[in-house]
Amino acid sequence: MLIALFPGDGIGPEIVAQARRVLDALGIDGLTYEEGLVGGAAYKAVGHPLPPETLDLAKRADAILFGAVGDPDCDSLERHLRPEQAILGLRKAMGLFSNLRPAKVFPELADASALKKEVASAIDLLIVRETNGDVYFGEKGMRKTADGLREGYDIMSYNEEQVRKIAHQGFHAARARRGKLCSVDKANVLETSQLWRDVVIEVSAEYPDVALSHMYVDNAAMQLVRDPGQFDVIVTGNMFGDILSDQASMCVGSIGMLASATLNDSNQGLYEPIHGSAPDIAGQGKANPLATVLSAAMMLRYSLAMPEQADRIEAAVARALAGGARSPDLGGTMSTVEMGDAVLATLN
Ligand code: NAD
Repeated sequence: MLIALFPGDGIGPEIVAQARRVLDALGIDGLTYEEGLVGGAAYKAVGHPLPPETLDLAKRADAILFGAVGDPDCDSLERHLRPEQAILGLRKAMGLFSNLRPAKVFPELADASALKKEVASAIDLLIVRETNGDVYFGEKGMRKTADGLREGYDIMSYNEEQVRKIAHQGFHAARARRGKLCSVDKANVLETSQLWRDVVIEVSAEYPDVALSHMYVDNAAMQLVRDPGQFDVIVTGNMFGDILSDQASMCVGSIGMLASATLNDSNQGLYEPIHGSAPDIAGQGKANPLATVLSAAMMLRYSLAMPEQADRIEAAVARALAGGARSPDLGGTMSTVEMGDAVLATLN
């Protein structure tokens, strides 16, 4: 099985290197790796953030382990050449539509949450976010109004097939967890959301064992802080999911802890930490690699059908934290490599 490694920019290479060490230590037969250029690193080397060779490698691979993209040197480039376009390009070209972001508090880190410890301790949720549609992919532009004012516009739309596909993902995920699915929309105001809600209800007929509820996104943002323990799986659209999943990350503690997967119809997936390239700490050995290590665990579970190996990684991370492993974002002093060492030391 082929894994494409796309370290990218900033702290990307440092954190992907630690995930690779952990994968190697599992001693899985038949895993091969090829590395590709992506983001600002690719732009600087070959003039494009997602070169054809990288896209070709992504399509050939069974899964992609991705670091992060984003480079301040590239901030003034035209939009289509900016590093961040690499992710949108990969999502679009590979039909990666289902973004899974688990948020769970490791007991040892409950103090790192922005929430009260007793509220944070109850967090064990999964956000299933659609990533191939919505306002990010709709027609957009700048124009002048009739009275000469500049006006920006971005069209929000979903068709029923897109909603149906992500709804199935949400129901499947809920079935594999505690059987509760909360669909988040803004159906009181948006037609897009009304369709979303109608289709989710239609799909629910196939999952009588899953308890479906609906919540408006503004209420969901409030409930995530007030009582996050009430959520099992949340399914939502691209923009609402973007915002809610970052909010969930701070409820859990450090952004350096949260992994994600984005899957297509054939379970090919792109696995990455939810954070960016952190240029402020790049090259200093301060980055927490655990979100990337946990992304590698998700890769084993979802794309490579190796749940036992995924469990081994997750258990090792939990033991490393219980043993006191802390990078600076978690209030400690351990370097990126030392955090990798700590996971390797507890890997059974
Ligand atoms: P960021 O997530 O890179 O950093 C936010 C803060 O969190 C910074 O203080 C950073 O030092 C810290 N941080 C992030 N990851 C950490 C880790 N593993 N360990 C310790 N601390 C960590 O977000 P930003 O600063 O808004 O963006 C920086 C660049 O990353 C931008 O170019 C942005 O576009 C890009 N970005 C990329 C992705 C991606 O590749 N998927 C996602 C978000 C942002």
